[in-house]
Amino acid sequence: MPTFSIHTLGCRTNQADSEQLRQILLGAGFVEVPFGSPADCAIVNTCTVTGEADRKSRQILRRASRQAGTVVATGCGVARRGGLESLPGAVLKLAPESREQILELLGASDCLGGSALRYGLQAGRSRALLKVQEGCDHFCSYCIVPYVRGRSRSMPAGSLVEQARALEEAGHREIVLTGIHLAVWGRDLPENPDLADLLDRLLQGTREVRFRLSSIEPMSFPHRILERMAHFPDRICPHLHLPLQHASDAILKRMRRDYTWAEYDRLARDFLDSVPGACLTTDILVGFPGETQGDFEILMGHLRTLPFLHLHVFAYSPRKGTAAAMYSDPVPESTRKSRSEQVIRLGERLARAVRRRFRGQVRPVLVERAADREGEWLGTADNFLQVCFPGPPALLGRIVPVRLGLGEDGRLCGLPKGEEFASGR
Ligand code: SF4
Repeated sequence: MPTFSIHTLGCRTNQADSEQLRQILLGAGFVEVPFGSPADCAIVNTCTVTGEADRKSRQILRRASRQAGTVVATGCGVARRGGLESLPGAVLKLAPESREQILELLGASDCLGGSALRYGLQAGRSRALLKVQEGCDHFCSYCIVPYVRGRSRSMPAGSLVEQARALEEAGHREIVLTGIHLAVWGRDLPENPDLADLLDRLLQGTREVRFRLSSIEPMSFPHRILERMAHFPDRICPHLHLPLQHASDAILKRMRRDYTWAEYDRLARDFLDSVPGACLTTDILVGFPGETQGDFEILMGHLRTLPFLHLHVFAYSPRKGTAAAMYSDPVPESTRKSRSEQVIRLGERLARAVRRRFRGQVRPVLVERAADREGEWLGTADNFLQVCFPGPPALLGRIVPVRLGLGEDGRLCGLPKGEEFASGR
């Protein structure tokens, strides 16, 4: 049997794309081996969102060349205007939109099952990924993604319901809806449904699996989702990752984000006020060209006013081919670094405060993997709190009610509902 391995860089959408490749290869009789082991074929799903991502993609491709007979580079890096135009001759390129031709590329199109896609168990994952949308028309000034992923396209609801049902039947207890610009799902489909309509269809078409939204932009956010979250607390996770990027309106405008801090703040508070147990996480981009000390202080000041569970902080680096790469007022690298460190520290303080608020509550936790300490598990609560708690091996992959406590290090620990914490927990 031919063997393959996959390494994925970048976002959840890339992970979902890798999953599609994996399902095609398994369906055709290939056997998966861990990346790094000898394999007939190693696939590297690249990312090109920053120069650093290009560098890492090249590094992994070089590593793969030493381990596999055939190396395939796919993903944004090899797309038109991606950062990996020139690759060693031996590496095969698979354009992201041609993923389904992986067997043809490998000369294996007559293999058992062909390229028919199975929607089965996503091995090694308690949470399955379901890609519902591709591409983006927004063109934020720092972002290369619309150039490499193309215009926004939505997958039809009927096929998504079918996939969700298959994932539930395969044993997944949570399905994460992913997309490059998830908020605009449906705009290009007949009758222009929105994400709330899709959630309705998914809830009707499945039994009890819970759904989580992956990162969703505040621009074009479909507000009706909040009602669905409030009405179906067991089926739609009360968590939003709403990328803010900055809180100075001047910088948001230069980023072409199309909202002000006040608008973001209103949306975040609508979510937190209307959805019980809601938690909010975000992305922050510091050191954008033209960011003054005043802009940075506005950012820090506003961040302190919302209960963020996590700040995913990036220091800006110019991406060739984007509008912002042409801006002539860069922030010095040392300032970018020091500002990003300050935001990271603030994020840690905000997260501790959020975790304290949930102490003593019971939340449904998806058990995802063994913790370092024997007999303990790591899992994710419905609202994205990460919890470590003791329990038997049979819990893996299940959703269990866990009473949350606070460890001495400020992290959340838990006990299955019904048991009490010793002092300190
Ligand atoms: S919304 Fe902006 S940041 Fe997100 S993919 Fe589109 S252009 Fe990039």
